[in-house]
Amino acid sequence: MKNNNESKKTIGFNINQPKETCTDVKCPFHGSLKVRGKTFTGIVIKNAFHKDATIEFLRSRKIGKYQRFEKRRSRIKAYNPECINATKGSKVKIMECRPLSKTKNFVVVESLGKDYLFSAREEALAESKVKDKPKEEPESATKEEEKKEKEEKEKSEDKKE
Ligand SMILES: [Zn+2]
Repeated sequence: MKNNNESKKTIGFNINQPKETCTDVKCPFHGSLKVRGKTFTGIVIKNAFHKDATIEFLRSRKIGKYQRFEKRRSRIKAYNPECINATKGSKVKIMECRPLSKTKNFVVVESLGKDYLFSAREEALAESKVKDKPKEEPESATKEEEKKEKEEKEKSEDKKE
């Protein structure tokens, strides 16, 4: 009965419960981890390790002298529970919790879907990297050679006819 009660646990703050369940102790829904403090929404820019995600988001900081705001980028490492399993490029909501490791004081509580701007930027970056490589020249040369060979073959075939 205890397990049933725990699986129906809500963490408050109008956050939807994940569809999947897990047996993780450090999960705010299925474990004993409590969330409190600050909440941020950002994009997962890196999940190099299992149950780990780096979240990036923009914030504005006031500059008093000029009565204006400047854009600042923040990166926060967060714990990524199994039941949510946010992947790179997805928008997530993170909440503060007790320190889970040296750098992780936050946990991913909700996945808000894929961020298409981020994925588009990644694709563009990948394409530019491919273009920078000097491997394309020999490929085009070989293609030209192939074309020449084909033409020659066709000519020879024409002659035979
Ligand atoms: Zn869970």
